[in-house]
Amino acid sequence: MSDLRRVLAAADTAARWHTDQRRKGAAQEPYINHLLEVAHLVTEATGGRDADLTIAALLHDAIEDCGITEAEITERFGTDVTALVAAVTDDKALPKAERKRLQIAHAAKTSDRAKILKLADKTSNLRAMKASPPANWPAERKQEYIAWARAVVAGVRGANPWLEAVFDQAAAEADAAI
Ligand code: ZN
Repeated sequence: MSDLRRVLAAADTAARWHTDQRRKGAAQEPYINHLLEVAHLVTEATGGRDADLTIAALLHDAIEDCGITEAEITERFGTDVTALVAAVTDDKALPKAERKRLQIAHAAKTSDRAKILKLADKTSNLRAMKASPPANWPAERKQEYIAWARAVVAGVRGANPWLEAVFDQAAAEADAAI
C-alpha cells in the first residue's frame, strides 16, 4: 500500500480509537487534535520522508490511552510502527511518579526516530499548556510540568535540531504564560 494510503488509514484509525477522549485542558479539545499536531511535527522534522514515523505519531497514545495491543498495531501497520509506539509508551502498571522518572531515563537511550517522536509529543503538550492549561492546575504544578518536559527533552537533544528549537520556543511561551 502507498505511504499516503497508510498514513490516512492510521489517521482514520486513530480518530476512531480516541473518539471519546478529550485533552486535559480547559478547552477540552478532541484528542485527535493532539495526535495530528504530533504527526505534523514529526513529518516536518523529517521532510515527509519517514511514513512509519508519521503513522507512529498518529498512534503513539493508542496503547496507553485506548488499551490497544502491540499485536493489533503490528497486524495493521507493521513491526516498525509498533516498535516506535512501544518506545514512547509508559508502563501503566507503574505508579505515576515512577513513570515520569523513567521517561527521563529512557528518552536518552532510545533511537533517533523515537527521540523525534518524543520531542514532538512534548512540544504539543507544552503548546497546550500555554493555549489551554488544565483548569484546576495551580501555577506551581504547571511549572513542575514544564520542568519535567525539559528534563525529558534534555535526553533527546541531537536527534533533530529544528524540532528542538520548536520545542524550546513552546517551552519559553508556556513559561511566559504562567
Ligand atoms: Zn501524546
